[in-house]
Amino acid sequence: MDSSVYVFVEDLLGEGVERVLDRISGYGVTGVTVGAVHHASRDVTPHGLSRLTLRHDGAHFIPPPELFDGLRLTPVPGVPDAFDGLREACANRSMKLHGWTVFLRNATLGAEHPDVTVRDCFGDRGSLTDLCPAHPDVRDYAVALARAVARLGVDSVVAESLHFRPLKPQRSFVPLGPMDAYLFGLCFCEHCMRRATDLGVHAEVARDECARIVGAVFDGDPPAQGEVTRAALTAYAGPDVVAYARARSETVTTLVSEVASAVAAEGSKLVFIDSTGAVKGYTDGLPTPGLAAHDAWQLGVDLVALGDLVPAFGVLAYARDAARVADDVGAYLRSVGKDREVRAVLRPGHPDSDSTDRLVAKARGARAAGALAVDFYAYGLVPYAVLDRIPAALSS
Ligand SMILES: [Zn+2]
Repeated sequence: MDSSVYVFVEDLLGEGVERVLDRISGYGVTGVTVGAVHHASRDVTPHGLSRLTLRHDGAHFIPPPELFDGLRLTPVPGVPDAFDGLREACANRSMKLHGWTVFLRNATLGAEHPDVTVRDCFGDRGSLTDLCPAHPDVRDYAVALARAVARLGVDSVVAESLHFRPLKPQRSFVPLGPMDAYLFGLCFCEHCMRRATDLGVHAEVARDECARIVGAVFDGDPPAQGEVTRAALTAYAGPDVVAYARARSETVTTLVSEVASAVAAEGSKLVFIDSTGAVKGYTDGLPTPGLAAHDAWQLGVDLVALGDLVPAFGVLAYARDAARVADDVGAYLRSVGKDREVRAVLRPGHPDSDSTDRLVAKARGARAAGALAVDFYAYGLVPYAVLDRIPAALSS
């Protein structure tokens, strides 16, 4: 079965390319998905060079200058030589190399160019980490970035954050319900407003309604109860808001289509990952009830439309329960089309997998539901003892 382990460039720098690849291929894994473009974070890395790794926003290669000629947004420089020799080192072990690319989550670019970031219903730009997929400069950047990663000679470009992102404040002592948080997270920048208006949506009515509802909670009204569904959102915020939220999928679908075409033109293929599975289960492996494929629309991700445009999809199956993993994979395949490649991304340790048996059950569930590949997240984030569970998961 096709498989890979997610690897950060810091893992390769710390332990050395040969040692990391030998360990991974020793597990029977057939590929590595290496972070070519990543976002800033501070991570516990149990066997890293440093046990606490500070990552910066950055593209870990030297982008071909002609791809970004005349563009306002250009990649933030990272480790310039992280991919040097990597393709050959993988080929020597008959392993595939995938280029993991974080597109629209970039605090550095956002701080340099605040006008390309999302803008909430109050007119504020409080999420400078989130570039808006409707902004023309962001779209040009995303297409060029995809081409640049494809030119590294990777077997696929794995796209993360190529859609709208959910609101993630670091502190909130206001009890916003899921629907309030969702409305507060919608982008009402001029480009989003114009695109929605072009589709016949009353964008200003939607914006004012969001501001009225969220503002009332800030003023002490009780928050909305219950998860976000189209029906609940219609009842809570009205049809104009729902129409506005649904119109976001046109923005994302057209962008992903352009990126997929650019990647194909460079001789690689796009693997699209939407973060809904992480939104649901990241913290504790206990995802909220709705399946990821059914709730992806909330981030502007129309899986049925994307199924016609993108050859492969990664499902973030961040769950403890093997049945849930199988359900998520099955729902994804029903949305994107049975003939599409769906890869299940599993976390082999905390908080999703407390034993080898549990990881084995989830890999088996993913495969039985139709997944063509299993990917493991992530090399540097889990102890060696957890990585050692992988061979059993692949041979089960
Ligand atoms: Zn916008």
